[in-house]
This record gives sequence, C-alpha cells and structure tokens, in this order.
Amino acid sequence: MNRMTMIEVKDEWKSRAKIDKATYDEWYKQSIDDPEGFWKQHAKRIDWIKEPTKVKSINYTYPDVSIKWFEDGELNVCYNCVDRHLKDKGDKTAILWEADEPGNAQHITFQQLHEHVCKFANVLKELGVQKGDRVVIYLPMIPQAAYAMLACARIGAIHSVVFAGFSPGALRDRVNDSEAKVVITANHAPRGGKATPLKKNTDKAFEGIEGDVKCLVVKRTGDDTPMTDGRDFWLHEMEGKVGNDCDCEPMNAEDPLFILYTSGSTGKPKGVVHTSGGYIVYTSMTHEYVFDYHPGDIYWCTADVGWITGHSYIVYGPLANGATTLVFESTPTYPDASRCWKVCEEHKVNQFYTAPTAIRALMGKGRKHVEGHDLSALKILGTVGEPINPEAWNWYYEEVGHSNVPIVDTYWQTETGGILITPLPGATPLKPGAASKPFFGVKPVILEPQSGEVLEGNGVEGVIAITDSWPSQMRTVYKDHERFVNTYFQQYKGYYFTEDGAKRDEDGYIWITGRVDDVINVSGHRMGTAEVESALVAHKAVSEAAVVGFPHDVKGQGIYCYVTLMEGTEPSDDLRDELIKHVRSEIGPIAKPDALQFAPDMPKTRSGKIMRRILRKIAEDKLDELGDTSTLADPSVVDHLIENRQNKG
Ligand code: ATP
Ligand code: MG
Repeated sequence: MNRMTMIEVKDEWKSRAKIDKATYDEWYKQSIDDPEGFWKQHAKRIDWIKEPTKVKSINYTYPDVSIKWFEDGELNVCYNCVDRHLKDKGDKTAILWEADEPGNAQHITFQQLHEHVCKFANVLKELGVQKGDRVVIYLPMIPQAAYAMLACARIGAIHSVVFAGFSPGALRDRVNDSEAKVVITANHAPRGGKATPLKKNTDKAFEGIEGDVKCLVVKRTGDDTPMTDGRDFWLHEMEGKVGNDCDCEPMNAEDPLFILYTSGSTGKPKGVVHTSGGYIVYTSMTHEYVFDYHPGDIYWCTADVGWITGHSYIVYGPLANGATTLVFESTPTYPDASRCWKVCEEHKVNQFYTAPTAIRALMGKGRKHVEGHDLSALKILGTVGEPINPEAWNWYYEEVGHSNVPIVDTYWQTETGGILITPLPGATPLKPGAASKPFFGVKPVILEPQSGEVLEGNGVEGVIAITDSWPSQMRTVYKDHERFVNTYFQQYKGYYFTEDGAKRDEDGYIWITGRVDDVINVSGHRMGTAEVESALVAHKAVSEAAVVGFPHDVKGQGIYCYVTLMEGTEPSDDLRDELIKHVRSEIGPIAKPDALQFAPDMPKTRSGKIMRRILRKIAEDKLDELGDTSTLADPSVVDHLIENRQNKG
C-alpha cells in the first residue's frame, strides 16, 4: 500500500456509524459558533440532580486562569455509571473481567456492580472517609479497582489511583501529597504469570506515610499476608459488617472527582485535578462517538486504571454509557503474543483500544500470533499514547483489521481528560499516523514556536495549543494552582498549551510530531524525532526505535538512535550501517544518524511510553542528570543502555 494514501470511509463504516461527514461538519460548526448552546444540549446525556443553568465560565487570561463548566449543576457520577442503568440493563454485563490466567473470565452485571459498589462505599464510610476526603487506590486490574473508584464517586471522596507497578516510594509520595485517609490495595497482584506482593510494597510505603492512614486490602490470592492491627483491614471482612444500601451524595459539577499524576515522561509528575460534571459529559460523549459505541457492543481498552485512559475509557466513559467494558488483568504477551487476539475472539470484542507501544511489540513478535483468530466482531481499532508510526499503523490495519476496520488515532492527555483530536469512524477518511480532526468543541491552533504567532491555513508546522476550554479539561494542579497556570498558560498567552509539536497538512489533517522537547535541530533544520523513528521502524529488521538529539560541534545537534530489533534478528555492524543508510535514503542526507545503538529494551514509563529525556541524557553522556526515574517500568534497562553507549564519531 502506498504509505501516503488516504483511506476513504467505507460504505459499511458509514452505514453503521452514528456520525457521518455531514453530521460531523454541522455539529462541529455549531460547537464552535455556539459552545453554550451546544454543550447545554449535550449535557442532557447525563442525569442531573439539578440541571445546570450556567454552561461555561472560562478565563484563559494569564495569570488569572479559571475554568468552570456547568457550575450550578448537581449530579453524582457513580449514579450515572451504575444506578441509572438498573432499570433496563440490570442483567447486562457491565464489567467483563479477563483474569491473568486465561480461561477465568467473569461477568459482572450492572445489578452486581451496584451491590459491590454500595458495599464498598459503606466500608469506606466505616473507615471514616467523608465527602471531600482523598483515597489512594493502589490496585491491579481487578474489578475491585472499578468498585473502589465508583465507591469514592458515590460518597464524594476524591480518588487518586496509583499504578500498581509503581514502587513503594512513588506510592508514599502520592499518599503524602494528597493527604489521603485510606490506601486501598490487594495482597498480591498476579500479572503475566508473576505475582507482585502488593501488600508488602504498601507496608514499605507506610514506613514513610504521615498521619493516621488506614489500609484496606482486597484478597486477590490465597497467599499469606501480614496485617497490622488497627491499621489494616480486609475488604471481605469489612463488607460483612456493613449494610447493602448506600445513597449517592449530591455533588456540585465542579467538585473534584479525582486526582491523577501524569506519567512523568518529561519530569516530576503533576497532580492533575478533574471535576465531576464536565468530565462525565465529555468522556461519555467521546466514548460513544469516537468508538461508535452501540448498545450491546463489547468494548475493550487495554490500558491500566493507573493512568488517564483507564479512568476515562475503561471506567467512567463506557459505564456512563451502559457499555460492557472489558477489564484485563494480564499483559498482551502472556502466555504468548496471541493473548489479545484470543480474548477478542472469545469475547467477540467490537472495539479494541490500545497503545502504539503494544502494537509495535506485537508486530515485533510476528504475524503468526494474529493469524488464524476470528476477529470478525471487531468494528473499531483505537490507539493512544504516542504518535503511531505509519508502519505500525499499517500493520494494525492490515493484520488485525484485515483492511476493513477503521483505526481511530486518538490524541489527548491526562490534562485534557478526554480525546481532543481523532478521526470519527463514519466521517473521517484515514491517514496512517495522523490524529486527524478535532472532536466537537475543540479548537486547536498551530503556533509558531518562537513568536507564538498563529499559523493559519494548511501546510503549517509548529506547536499545538487549544483556543477555548472543553468540559473535561483539568482545573488545576493539586495544591499548586500556580504550577498549573505557569505550565499551560504562560508561554502562549490566551491558549492552553499542550507542550506537543504538530503540523496541519495540505488536507487540513493534524499530525502530532511529538513533545516539544523532542524536536531536534540539525544544521538549522527542525525535525521531529518521530519522523526518524518512523523511518527506522519501516525497516523490516526493526520493531521499535527512539531518537534523540545531542550537542554536535558542526551541526548544532546530532542524531542518536536507539533501536530494538524484531525477534530473531541479531545485531551486527553491517545491520547498523544498513539502518543508517536506510534513514538517509528515506528522509534525506540531513537525517543521517550519527550514532545507532542496539537496545534490547527501552526505558519506558509504566504506561509504555519511551522516556526520551533519559535517552537524551545517555546520548549526551550526562549520566548524573538522569533525573526522576521513579516512574520507569524497569530501571535496570538504563544500566544496560549506559554500558552499551555508542561512539558519536
Ligand atoms: P508527563 O506529562 O508527566 O511528561 P505524559 O505527557 O507522557 O507525562 P500523558 O498525559 O499520559 O502523560 O500523555 C499525554 C501525551 O502523550 C501527549 O501530550 C502526547 O505527547 C502523547 N500522545 C497521546 N496520544 C497521542 C497520539 N494519539 N498521537 C501522538 N501523541 C500522543
Ligand atoms: Mg504530558
């Protein structure tokens, strides 16, 4: 297939989609011309205790930034995700849990979800949790993670989910920062056939936790678990002591729903605060239209609840829509690289949403793992988290979707709460690697990075900012509004700045070129590292690539590449030369790498993103400046990379 072709919306996609091109154009125009009217109308998708009369009050003026949506409305988010579905969907599966070991799936109906959440909420109350209190959730991908989040929402407590793969230190910092009353954990966390002793990690974290904090423990396995009297409580024992009913606390639309720390790709994680009304309106609406969700669909997002995708598109968005959401405890490669396709086949998954890192990893394992699975139920494929290389996009489209399933490349951030830029399956012709078009109400601009001038028209490249607010925008950094204002509103006045680079091509499609820090300048030519990475990944020997700049006497910056090879391919000097030549011929002499290092593994965040800032420091030989590595999935990867540094001659 010609890499540059645009894939037209097929008739089949059009005929089942809720939004066609004409509707997209009409709604989009209305959402920009009359945001008040548009969002007043679409806020009706939510059951309000008191309908809002005010829609938006937004001030993007530095330094007085303030963002409010539906500010006099009252609702309960848990009610919207659970209770309101009981009358017609009580027996329908809300959560389809796929456990670590294959063959142990469980269906939890909305009725059962309601019972679990009410009990859980009563247990939290029993432990002294009240409206406005913070609760840290340190759980693996088990149904109790969703129960815990919803239970907090039910009683008006603010949850802060900490990824279960994080260290005791990272957990301790987040508990202290949020001054949480309770930490919810599990005794063990099986994943990929290995079990993490989560409760032991929690105990270590507690050594540095300040104040009277309780620990609620889910019994995931039968393993021995040390419990501290007066501090630690088993969930199942507590559930035996509390009642079955629990009312939903009426919440103001602007009451915080949760705090979530960003994944830490660029520096110290920020405690992002999301509120209730706008968040649930926007996440449920994007979930419905981006994934073209229809009642009865089985929807699967492979993310973890420890990051924003898990919040918005495993728990809140889908459940607010009464969807069946698949919760996956394992990894895409356990017991082997066919796991995802086996699960899709077995549960007849209709929407599958994952990250480029997983797609590249599965691509690296070869097509044999996909072949032979019945994936005919798939209607939508999705990707999020990083720019997707066209090569990986094509693999996903051809091998998984058999060139018959649209891919939605969804661009958004922890800070944005929901998807900002994406194709809509029935409306947007697809371009491999392009995030494409803004969702309703989102008005992106491309700015000239130095002057901040708006680059109008098509065929422009710069940084991407957003002109006006959308309902699920973050409201502040927890306890640090100044950091919020300075990070996102200071550099380009009057805009929300994403910190990402982007271009708008000749057809008006938006392409995210990567983080602003990841742009390199070689002999005066600005280049997104994503471009060089995509050229490398397009070579048949390469499964993953990360590219960074380093100071170069002649060129200003030189190009340093880290390359992970396909399974079964051995590194060699000949291959290194071949790959360097390949990049040169794909992009041009200006992009010829100065160094190329074979890397069996990349330093990644727990959400699977390559931490280029660490790779940059290694390439610059600044080993004492690696910075915060606490959010790395596997810190030992760094040592290996340091030992195998390449000469930059
Ligand atoms: P931190 O802000 O702590 O450095 P992070 O930016 O990785 O961490 P997230 O909010 O999880 O934390 O990730 C959002 C970022 O991921 C975006 O700003 C963008 O750089 C990248 N991203 C997400 N989706 C896409 C996509 N579809 N295409 C391109 N880039 C994407
Ligand atoms: Mg970020």
